[in-house]
Formats: sequence, C-alpha cells, structure tokens
Amino acid sequence: MKVYLVNLGCVRNLVDSEIMLGRLVQAGWTVIQEPEEADIIVVNTCSFIESAVNESIDTILELAKFKKTGRCRNIIVTGCLPERFREEIVHLLPEVNFFLGTGAFDRIVQAADGFKNLPVCFLPNLDFSPVQEKDASRVSSLEYMAYVKVAEGCNKGCTYCIIPKLRGKHRSRPLEDIVDEARSLISSGVKELILVAQDTTYYGRDLCPPVDLGVLIEKISAISENVWVRFLYGHPESIDESIIKTIAGRSNICSYFDIPVQHVSRSILKRMGRKYTRDYLYRLIDKIRSLVPDAALRTTVIVGFPGETEKDFCQLLDFVEDICFNHLGAFIYSDFEDLPSHRLSGHISEKVVTQRYDLLMSSQAKISLKNNRKQIGRTVKVLVEEKQEDNIFCGRTAFQAPEVDGIVYINSGQMKTGCFADVKITDAYEYDLVGDPV
Ligand code: SF4
Repeated sequence: MKVYLVNLGCVRNLVDSEIMLGRLVQAGWTVIQEPEEADIIVVNTCSFIESAVNESIDTILELAKFKKTGRCRNIIVTGCLPERFREEIVHLLPEVNFFLGTGAFDRIVQAADGFKNLPVCFLPNLDFSPVQEKDASRVSSLEYMAYVKVAEGCNKGCTYCIIPKLRGKHRSRPLEDIVDEARSLISSGVKELILVAQDTTYYGRDLCPPVDLGVLIEKISAISENVWVRFLYGHPESIDESIIKTIAGRSNICSYFDIPVQHVSRSILKRMGRKYTRDYLYRLIDKIRSLVPDAALRTTVIVGFPGETEKDFCQLLDFVEDICFNHLGAFIYSDFEDLPSHRLSGHISEKVVTQRYDLLMSSQAKISLKNNRKQIGRTVKVLVEEKQEDNIFCGRTAFQAPEVDGIVYINSGQMKTGCFADVKITDAYEYDLVGDPV
C-alpha cells in the first residue's frame, strides 16, 4: 500500500509530516513521490494567512482528481486547515475522507486504513495533545539536516496571529527526549540541527522544574563538535542573557539570532499585543552584539498593520536601517474575520501598504548587499547542499538559515554534498554569495 504526502506551510509542519510518514512506514506503508500510484494521499495543510488557506484548498482539489484518474481511495487532510475551519470544512470539501486536526496526527494510520470508528473530522483538545512522543520514528526529507520541534503552541496572544487557536498553549517536550532525538539524528549522519517551535526561546519554562533553551542547545551541541546547531523563531521577550551567552560559548552553535520584532512603533506594538518597546529592542540587540560580535541577525516585520500611520512606518524603516539586519522578511498584514486585529480600526489600503512594503524591501536589499560585500575575501565554512549545474554547487554558511536566507554558490565541478567545506568568498549579491573552495 502506497502513500503520497504533500507538506504545506512552515518547517514545524514539515516535522509533523515526517513523523506521520514514520508512523505509516512502521505500519507497512510505502512512501512514494508521485500521486498517480498512491492508495492514499495526505495533504498536511497551513492556514496561517489567506494565501496559505487558498494554497491548501487548491492543493486538495488538485490531488482529489486522483480518486477518479488514479488508484487513490482515501484523501486525508491534516493540520491547520481543519483546525481553523473546524467541522465547517467537511461540507466545503466533500472529496476528503478524513480531516485530522493538529492534535490528531497520531491517528494517521487509522485514517489511512479507513478505520470506521474514526470521526470524519477529528479535532481533539490541543492543550492535552502530546507534542511528539518519545522515540517517534520519522521519515526525514533530507539526510544532512533536520528540524527538531522542541515545543508546540504559544501562550502569547498577538492580535494578528491564529497560531494559539491552531496549536494550543505552549507545551515543551522533555529535555532528555529532545537530546535523545538529536543524538539519534546525528548518528544517522545529520550535520545541522535546527530547533523550532512557535516561540522557541520560551522553551522549557512550562516544564517542572523549568529548563532554559540555552541548557538544551548546550547539551545538543556537546554531542558532536562537527554538527551545527541553531534555533529559529525566537521571541524578543523570551531571549535572555543565558541563551545569548550559550551561543557565544560554543563554536558549533551558529551565531544566528532569529528574532521576529514585527514592528517598533509603540502604538502598533500595543495594537499587536506585543509587550516590548523599541528601546527594549535596541538594548537587546546591543547585548547580543556585545556578547556575540559576529552575530547574524534575522527578523520579520509586518507592514500595513491596522492603524499604521506614515509616522509609525517611518519609525520601522529607521529602525531597520539603523540595526542593519543581516536578513529581513517583511510581510504585508493579512486580514481574516476570526482574528482580533480584524476588528481594529484603520485598515490600510492595498496601494499604501504595497508602497511601504516596496520601500522597506528596497532599503533592506541595500543593507543586505553592504553586509554581504564585507564577506568578500573571507574564508567561511559552508554546508554543501546540492549540485546546481555542471560546475556549480550551492550551500549555506552558519549565518544563513535554509529557505529564508541567501545561499553560497561554489565554483566547483566536484564537491561532496551534505558535508562541510571551506569556501573563499569572491563575490556578493543582495542575498547570495559566490566563492571558490579552498
Ligand atoms: S508569539 Fe508568534 S506564534 Fe505566538 S501569538 Fe505571537 S506571532 Fe503568534
């Protein structure tokens, strides 16, 4: 029996998909890469913003065709789409056989087997749903790199964010479970471990006794000197000095800080439900740069949040230009009826938001180019990821995270992928670097 799975959305979803596939493989299913031959098709969905909802629905409808033209007998939709639209989704997508919410991934084998007692739409209470069981087997997408989910859910209540509704309250995995998983991934050949959660820097504060993300990263980094460790999705409020000092203290923990600030204007932060100020962010970044002089800073910001005035936007732009982030992702505010921010006054026209977005991104492009040019002439360690064309490979440095940041093009006809190499940087573009192997 064959299963085809499509993963949509963020890397946290990717971990869920890999674990669902792990369960299916243990139950005797074979994972295939083409939907035509699949007996069941699983779509692990995202519904974070409107475009993600549309992409999820389009993908389901596209794949549902294989119930007529292929051998598919079961379409299973998992994750954030059913979690957001609840039972309503059953009537909207009658092509689907089972919907499993984000707390029901452990029912994937039952759904695949068409278990009669399983409700068509199963949405267990998230606050009591386990994050990831100990020793869960997973089918990894890549051999040399793995995302490790350290917690699920979020206790913050940002007004533009649906995540707490989709993923429940923050629940950390036990530290030893995560260290054991890291050990097993490293022994299988993984060269980079990326710790993720919704609010990764809040890791462990709900455990008894509480644990700190710094302690977790330190333990994982001690398993092998030859493996990079980094975290993504920090929160400005929960990055404390001990995490920064841990990163400063070990060479195989990437000096990379992903801190989505979202905005800096006092009134917009208040409307967003974020409890810090611009001055606090300046102090935090000063602290990071003083303790970790080679720190690479990444952030994300939202442009066009309801009520954002020209002055608010200029404050954000000034901040971005002042800090000179190594990487920045800007998002245009995405409205939805079920968000608290939907009820705020002062929604901004598309034209104004687009102008602000373009201005911010063109400013960041100049900053990024300037930062990248500083790398020319340096020799950097690169994790070689793939062959692009005949004489070009590509990879990433410790200051580049996968998917979201730039890459390094390496002029070489022969390199080993999934391994580290020293590369001398010879050229720099707005997002990417070019170099020769040393
Ligand atoms: S901290 Fe992040 S995940 Fe949590 S509510 Fe805010 S934006 Fe959403």
